[in-house]
Order: sequence, then structure tokens, then C-alpha cells
Amino acid sequence: MALIVAKFGGTSLANPKRIKDVAGRLVAYHRQGNQVVAVVSAMGKSTDDLLKLARSLNEKPPARELDVLLSTGEQVSMSLLAMAIEARGVRAVSMTGRQAGIVTTQAFNRAQIAEIKADRLKRELKNNRIVIVAGFQGETKEGDITTLGRGGSDTSAVAIAAGIQADVCEIYTDVDGVYTADPRMVPRAKKLDQISFDEMLELAASGSGVLQMRSVEVARNYGVAIHCRSAFTKTPGTLVKEANTMEQAIISGIAYDTSEAKVTIRDVPDQVGIAASVFGAIAAKNINVDMIVQNISENGATDISFTCPVSELDRMRAVLDQQVRELGVREYLIDESIAKISLVGAGMKSHPGIAAKMFQVLAENNINIGMISTSAIRVSVVIEGAKTQLAMTQLHTAFGLDSDQVFTETQLTSEELAAKAEKGR
Ligand code: ADP
Ligand code: ASP
Ligand code: MG
Repeated sequence: MALIVAKFGGTSLANPKRIKDVAGRLVAYHRQGNQVVAVVSAMGKSTDDLLKLARSLNEKPPARELDVLLSTGEQVSMSLLAMAIEARGVRAVSMTGRQAGIVTTQAFNRAQIAEIKADRLKRELKNNRIVIVAGFQGETKEGDITTLGRGGSDTSAVAIAAGIQADVCEIYTDVDGVYTADPRMVPRAKKLDQISFDEMLELAASGSGVLQMRSVEVARNYGVAIHCRSAFTKTPGTLVKEANTMEQAIISGIAYDTSEAKVTIRDVPDQVGIAASVFGAIAAKNINVDMIVQNISENGATDISFTCPVSELDRMRAVLDQQVRELGVREYLIDESIAKISLVGAGMKSHPGIAAKMFQVLAENNINIGMISTSAIRVSVVIEGAKTQLAMTQLHTAFGLDSDQVFTETQLTSEELAAKAEKGR
């Protein structure tokens, strides 16, 4: 008998037929003698719909109220799933984040789980019920509803698995597992049987939305192995776990991220303390910046460029307007039409020349590189957003990652790509 946490994403619960299928899977687990906790996302694209609804009334909805609204999506699916399970003759109980004891920080829209008080959840399991927890949501100590950022149900599942010491944490989604690249962007992407926490973390941080980055962090910190797999088949998926140092692929995957913008501050005086002032002011507002490049100084002035999430641009402009005045800087420019492309692989450490090959492939395809950054197991470049798919497919082929099989499911439409860039807002 095992204690299983199984998380189901929006597509896996998009309509009554799919909810029935998920119920069937959970009931089968239960009948095999396992204890089962399901963590659910909102049905289909209902979180996007709720966001649109909010924005139709207020362009910048108050963060607290937005969380009250968005948390309702998961409550719809949790109760429906409980009903579908009960219809099969097995007892089930659905729980909101609060009822499941998920205590979070105060940061509305991007709260972090601080603690899980799982007594009630464990009691329900002992009572032989299938427990269904609303993902993506929690509650602050003060009793306010919070959400964990887009894709946050993954993190709910992993944190609950850690909190109740589950034997397995399964993340069921609409593809067969983690691929070498988003299969909806690169049809020859290959499914990985396993990937290390560190590589998955870099891929998630670089834009691979298949697992929320925070969920991988929690999994690594608490040693929870994740099995990411399809909700529609029985095929085993991808195991995300501690590294097996014997088998390190040079490149495990390629990711893209269109949710960042490039900011360039022009003609900054080349003096001690200027970068400290600019980035100090940005940090004081808690805005994350990523790649930072300072050009060679000419005539005592230099340009500083960096990337930041498009969703933070309003707050960034407020900081920069003030800095421009204080430092006597000429102007700053913002380019929202960029993409970051990242190659990730633990084997890179022992294989020099990966970055050079990446730049060569991009050059051969007439793709200009705007910025570069690296970590021990990642090389990232900023390119023109319109060339994202060209860069992804060409790099995938050049690094020998192409599968013999072509992924036949739907490819991303240009509207979906635009929505991806929009999501961070
Ligand atoms: P869910 O609703 O189940 O959480 P998501 O849309 O959040 O599903 O994540 C699954 C999607 O992630 C896939 O449909 C795929 O388009 C995308 N994706 C991005 N990068 C990858 C990757 N490397 N491997 C697999 N899927 C990826
Ligand atoms: N429903 C939330 C979202 O769409 C959480 C999730 O799906 O993980 O982001
Ligand atoms: Mg997701």
C-alpha cells in the first residue's frame, strides 16, 4: 500500500468526460489499497477567463481581490471531482487550501507555502476517503486567501507530498512527460525518461512551463521525486529526481521564454556607484532582473541593458523615471519583442564549446544575439521574439536532440504564443 499524491492540470479536467476519467484513475488506485490525495487545477482555461473578467472591470485588479476570484476556479474542479468519485461508490472529500492547512506568505498573486498543517487531511485519509485538494491556493496567517503564481498547483502537490511524506508525487498533464523542448513548438522534441532536479530547475526557470519552477525547488529541497506523465494514457512519463552522475546528457533540453523585456539605459555616466544606485533602487522595489550587460564606455558614458518580466514593466518604469532624473541620464528604452532561448544540460560542465556551437547555429540562421548569460549547466541568449521557433528547431536539430517520431498533438498558435508573453502581466 502506498500514499500517492496525484496532481491534475486544467486540460486533464477540462470537461465532465475528463473529470470522470480522472475519477476512474483515482478510484482504481484506491481499490488497489493505496491512500490517495488528488491536487487539482481549475478546469481548462478558466483561470485565464477569470483574469479577463477581472480586467474587464479593473485594468489593474487589487491583488487581494484577484486571489479571492482566482481561487474559485480550483474549487469548481475539486467539488466536481469529488462528486464523480462518489458516483463510483468511493468516499471522497474536497478541501480548499485553507481546509487542507496550506499556510502561505502574504504576497498575493505569488505567495509561497510557509507551512502545511495536515492533521485534517491525514484524518480524512485514515477515514478511507480520497482527499481532493484545491491546488494553487492557500491562506495567510491572517486568514486572507492567496494564490501561488501561474502553474502553482504543481507546487501545491509537491509541498503536500513533502508534508505528508507521500511515496509518490505524480503530476498528470496533457503531454507524456518532460520533453527535450516544448513539443508544441518543436514537433521533433523527444520525451525524457528522467531528468535531474538541477536541470529541471534550469529548464523551468528558463520558461519550460511543464512544471512550475517553485515546485521543482520544493521537490529538490525535500527530496520528493516527481513523476510527470500524461493524464490520457498509461504510458510512464518522466522521473524528476536526484542526478545520476553516470549518465549526464550534454544537453537535456532547450527552453524559450517570451515573458521578459529588455531594458536599456542610455548614456549612463561611467562612474563608481552608478550601477549600485540603479540596481539598488530596482531591488528595493523587489523587481527581479535577469541578464545584465554593461557596454564599453565611450566619452565617459556607457549603456546598461538588462531583462525583467514584462509583468513588472509598470513598476520598473516608475523606478527608472526617478533614476533618470537623479542621475541625469538621457533616456531608457524598452523592447518587449524579445525571446530568451536557453540550452540546459549537466554534461555541459565537461564539454567545452557548447556556447560557441550555439552561437554558430544562430549565426547560420541569420539570428542576431542581443545578450548572453551562462550558469554551470545553462547557456542563454536573447534574440528577436519573431525568430523563437526557428532558433528552437534549428538548435534542437544541431544538438542531436531530434526524435524519430513527430509530435502530432496541436502546435501553439500565434495567439497562444502571444498569450504566453501576456501571462506574466
Ligand atoms: P497543466 O495544465 O497540466 O499544468 P501546463 O500547460 O501547465 O499543463 O503544462 C503542460 C504544457 O507544457 C505542455 O502542453 C507543453 O506545451 C508545455 N511545455 C513547455 N515546455 C515543455 C517541455 N520541455 N516538455 C513538455 N512540455 C512542455
Ligand atoms: N489554475 C492555475 C493556473 O492556470 C494554477 C495551475 O493550473 O497550476 O495558473
Ligand atoms: Mg501547469
